[in-house]
Amino acid sequence: MPAPRTIPAVKGFRDVLPEESRRWQALEEAAGQVFGRFGFGEIRLPVLERTELFARSLGETTDIVEKEMYSFADRDETGLTLRPEATAGVVRAYLESGLAQSDPAARLFYRGPMFRRERPQRGRYRQFYQIGAEVLGRDDPLADAELLLMLVRYLAAVGARDTRLELNSVGDRTCRPVYRERLREFGRAHLEGLCADCHRRLERNPLRMLDCKVESCREIMARAPVAAESLCEACRAHLDGVRALLEQEGVTYTMNVRLVRGLDYYCRTAFEVVGAGLGAQNAVGGGGRYDGLVAALGGPDVPGVGFALGLERLAMVAPDAGGEPDGPTAVILPLEPQAVGPALALATRLRDNGLVVGLEPAGRSLKALLRAADRRRARLAVILGEEELRTRRGTVRDLTRHEDRREAFSLDASGAELARSLRTMIGAVE
Ligand code: AMP
Repeated sequence: MPAPRTIPAVKGFRDVLPEESRRWQALEEAAGQVFGRFGFGEIRLPVLERTELFARSLGETTDIVEKEMYSFADRDETGLTLRPEATAGVVRAYLESGLAQSDPAARLFYRGPMFRRERPQRGRYRQFYQIGAEVLGRDDPLADAELLLMLVRYLAAVGARDTRLELNSVGDRTCRPVYRERLREFGRAHLEGLCADCHRRLERNPLRMLDCKVESCREIMARAPVAAESLCEACRAHLDGVRALLEQEGVTYTMNVRLVRGLDYYCRTAFEVVGAGLGAQNAVGGGGRYDGLVAALGGPDVPGVGFALGLERLAMVAPDAGGEPDGPTAVILPLEPQAVGPALALATRLRDNGLVVGLEPAGRSLKALLRAADRRRARLAVILGEEELRTRRGTVRDLTRHEDRREAFSLDASGAELARSLRTMIGAVE
């Protein structure tokens, strides 16, 4: 019989192994801390939502809704979709849970997996993780500025390198239609150079032509009119207000008049965090204001502003988050089979007292066991053989200094005392 073949993961889906996940934990913890200081509470959302939530919030003409969603009919025929992003879910929860009444100016952050059926490449997956934050119920420039300040503080806290904040305004209900018309005129004048997708975008959603990835389109669109020139008085004042507050707090950013967000509901403030050295997929995160979204989802006319950061890309620009992993404080090495029980008992007592403790199986030479302890990068090895069990004194070997010590280590001492003496040996002050 042939050996059964191994089953690979689904294309674009990947595993996050402990080394990477340790760094992710540090990124997530820092988010909780920094966002907490700005008054944000965590919301945990389902990964599955009704398809209509995304169709309505993202707009039928976006790439995500047109071709990237994992959608299927449930057994009762309800159309369901694995969330491609979380803002729509946050707004649904805000309305459904009554926050809209009890805490209309809610500040929420989330983290978790998102799903988009994009073409996989470096930094782009079909399941990826985001950390994001949303401020609802606020339309003043201070809300945008505070959110951006929080984002910048967070990036600094995790040691993100070579990132740049780009800012723009994409206008609102008053001035966007004017701009859209100008873009349409520009597109019509350059029709022959634009790709088939952009021909379609031209009629349905001309703003999307600005972030077309096709090189010839990019060249043409580089000369297109920019939103900033078409802003109405109110949008101009809003942008100036945000910029003044950012500058007051010393936030560095660059204006990028070509920055548009892929999603229909964005208005006014749009921003992106770009990472140098990330290659083609260089956006670490982005966000903006979405004043029409809550109403579009059947709620009151409540404004909002938020961002989402991609955890995979954040980990690339903040490679030192989480620091170097520590090996265990001690590894316990039972020399004989009869030392296994006492070794486990000792490990339990030490672990109960907060030490990171490794345990090796018996049945190998001392040399092999010590090599195993070294491989784990343990600071100390506690050797339990016949002699140690008889005298009730463990031999502790300092693996960095290669010395044996027995006196301090009575196996009959309390777990707290044992933990303390091991900590003293490695010079860790409690
Ligand atoms: P978006 O919701 O498209 O604004 O994306 C926000 C951030 O999520 C991006 O800047 C990326 O860091 C990350 N992101 C979006 N799509 C993917 C993907 N397919 N794979 C990995 N990260 C992604």
